[in-house]
Amino acid sequence: MSDCLFCKIIAGEIPSSKVYEDDVCYAFNDIDPQAPTHFLVIPKQHIDSAAALTESDAALLGHIYAVIADLCRQLGVAENGYRVVTNVGADGGQSVKHLHFHVLGGEKLPV
Ligand code: 5GP
Ligand code: ZN
Repeated sequence: MSDCLFCKIIAGEIPSSKVYEDDVCYAFNDIDPQAPTHFLVIPKQHIDSAAALTESDAALLGHIYAVIADLCRQLGVAENGYRVVTNVGADGGQSVKHLHFHVLGGEKLPV
């Protein structure tokens, strides 16, 4: 989607601190980290939010969660634990309308 910030990041039109990339997803550090480890994982395909997901996205979601688990092991936050969050819509606090999973860790997170 041409006017989407995260599509521009995937395309390299806006710089980002890349953590991981493969054919279907891209992971990069959040510009305003809320924890010592805070990165975002996004599908390369534009999807507005988790509210737009269907059964046909099952493989994509399984892949994204497997990538998150691998990255958290590599980054050393898997043992103590971490949080995966996706905000949906205005009340959910979603500011970028491209599906993204926040991954937060590296400290005891507030409940
Ligand atoms: P949301 O509020 O939609 O759940 O999360 C959007 C996230 O994207 C926020 O945590 C925000 O800090 C991050 N963000 C917004 N613009 C940029 C950017 O240009 N680069 C990076 N790396 N993160 C961004
Ligand atoms: Zn997009």
